This record gives sequence, structure tokens and C-alpha cells, in this order.
Amino acid sequence: MFHKTRLKLTALYILTTLLISVTFSIGLYSMMVREVTRFDKAQRFRIERQIVGTAPSHPLPETSELIEESKGRIVIFLIIINATVVLLAGGCGYFLAGRSLEPIEEMVREQNRFISDASHELRTPITALKSAFEVYRRSKKKTQKEASAIIDDSLLEVDALQNLTESLLELVQYNKPNKTTQMGRLDLVDIFKDALRRVKPLAQKSQIKIKTDITPVTVQGNGQALKDLVVILLDNAIKYSSQKTTITIHVKKVQNNAVMSISDRGIGMDQNDLPHIFERFYRADTARTKRNTEGYGLGLAIASEIVQTHNGTIQVSSEIKKGTTFTVTIPCIQTTMRKKSNIFS
Ligand code: ATP
Ligand code: MG
Repeated sequence: MFHKTRLKLTALYILTTLLISVTFSIGLYSMMVREVTRFDKAQRFRIERQIVGTAPSHPLPETSELIEESKGRIVIFLIIINATVVLLAGGCGYFLAGRSLEPIEEMVREQNRFISDASHELRTPITALKSAFEVYRRSKKKTQKEASAIIDDSLLEVDALQNLTESLLELVQYNKPNKTTQMGRLDLVDIFKDALRRVKPLAQKSQIKIKTDITPVTVQGNGQALKDLVVILLDNAIKYSSQKTTITIHVKKVQNNAVMSISDRGIGMDQNDLPHIFERFYRADTARTKRNTEGYGLGLAIASEIVQTHNGTIQVSSEIKKGTTFTVTIPCIQTTMRKKSNIFS
């Protein structure tokens, strides 16, 4: 598809260039012929006056053989120029068409990869649901206990489907081109308070302590998006940490930026995984994480979109079995007068 479009674009480039070049050549040709004829007339007149000593008594012939020859040469010259222009336009056009189509081609490839990964992840719980129902339908003695077990399993699969569709919708929402995100003045203390409230049950379940050192900083941002961002990072920190470990949150103002870091002492990641963890559906070391923890590899892709929306950056440093630190930097407005506080209780 892209090769055909590239050829079509090249043809369009050639046609446009040829049109300009031919129009220009016709103009040039008529101007040159006029000049040559005028020059020829003037020369002949001068020569004849020199020979006879008087003005010619009869009119000079309109054209001479020399003029015809010059016209022929001009035509050949212009044809060569036009042919060169066509060849150059063809080569450059083909190259430029390729370069202009490259990002679109990459985008389509990325979309297809996304659709295929999403379909694959959606198919897994749907297949599990279908098989459970089929097995139940085929069983001869249908007991109440069996039915309850199937409903419980099915609800788990439905939960998984719901989580996945919610993550997909969130990703699409933050990834929209020309999106107009509602921005306002926000205090990061409030954002972290709300986010910590949301992850508190998870942390308590694993007896994980969360320490905070938050300097009140005001940023221009979208409250819901920033809360989602903090929840994604804290959810990972909890999910990939062992029981009874500690997670530390630091928020400070560095020059005109708010710098937030979330550090855990969890399983860490291999250095080879780090460049890929912000890709959609990427899960580091599948054998280690997929078996033990739930997730689709969408959280950090969403986090990265949110950070981009706020003109910020997100960085990660990690060491296997030592822990991971995510650092988010976004432009801030000012430091508010509120005091530092340990907001997690
Ligand atoms: P989801 O967030 O969609 O439920 P997920 O947690 O697997 O699933 P991401 O949040 O995008 O997906 O994280 C991608 C991968 O990065 C994870 O699968 C995990 O391997 C690795 N990872 C992310 N955060 C941490 C962390 N704090 N410690 C160790 N590994 C991490
Ligand atoms: Mg996650």
C-alpha cells in the first residue's frame, strides 16, 4: 500500500515540476528567439550599411539560416534541461515521498501492533469464560456448588476484562491527538493525599510502609490525570515489592520544576528491560512477573502519556533485587506556604 502511494506521490512531484519547467522553457524560448532575431536584424543592417554606405533600399529577409539553426539549438538545449529536471525530480521526489511516508508507516505499524496485542489480551479471559460455561453445560449432574464455583471464576475473568478495557480507554483518552486537557492550579500535596488514599488498602494488605517527604509545590495540571499517574507508580511499587518493605516518596522544587520520586525496595528490573517498560503491553521479564503478578503492561504507557501532557519527563533507575525509583519532573508555578508533612497515616 505504501509503495503504491510512494509511486503516486513521486509521479505527482514529477508532473508538478515538469509543468513548471515546461512553462518556464516556453517563455525562455520565445524570449531567446525574439532576441536572436532582433540581434540578427541589427547586425545585417549594420553590415549592409558598411558595405553600401547607405541605408538598404529594400527590406531585409525576416529570418536567416543562422536563426533557424539557433532556434533548433535552443530547442535541443531546453529539451535536455527539461529531461534533466524530470530525472532529478523523479529521484528527489521518490526519496522525499519515502521520507514523508515513513512516520505514517510507523504509526500504522504501531496501531496494528496495539490492536493485535489488545485483541490477544481480550481473547484470554473471553476464552476462559467460554470454556468454563461449555464444561458446565456438558456436565450431566449440575450441582449448586459447581455453579457457584463457575460464577466465582467467571467474575474474576470479568474483573480482568473490565480492568483491561478501562486501561485501554484511559490510554486512548490520554493519547488523543489535539486533546484539550482541562488544566488548573494544583497543590501536589492534595494530589498525593488522594492517590495514597486509593492505594492504602493494597499497601496494608502487603504490610508495606509508605514514607513521604513532600514539599508543597503548585503546578499547572489536570488533577485526575496527575492522581492517575501517582496511583500507577505507587501500584507498581507495591505490586513489585515484597511484604513488609518500605516505599519512599519525595517531592521537591528544583529551579522551576516539581520533582517527584517514588522509590521501592522491591524486585527491581534488568537494565535491558528499562528502555521498553513505557511501551504498551510490555512486561519486564515475563517469566518472573507474568506468573506472579496481575497486569497488562499498560500502566507505565499511560503514565508516560500523562507526563507528556504536562510537558514533563519520567525517568527510571532500577537494580535487580535492590529496588526501583521512578522520577517525574514537571514544570511548577511556585512553592506554596504550606508546611512539609508526612501525609500517610
Ligand atoms: P498494569 O499496570 O497494566 O496493570 P503492569 O504493572 O505489568 O500492568 P506497567 O505498570 O506498564 O504494567 O509496568 C510494565 C512492567 O515494568 C511491569 O510488568 C514490571 O515488569 C515492570 N515494573 C514497573 N514498575 C516496577 C517496579 N516498581 N519494580 C519492578 N518492576 C517494575
Ligand atoms: Mg502497573
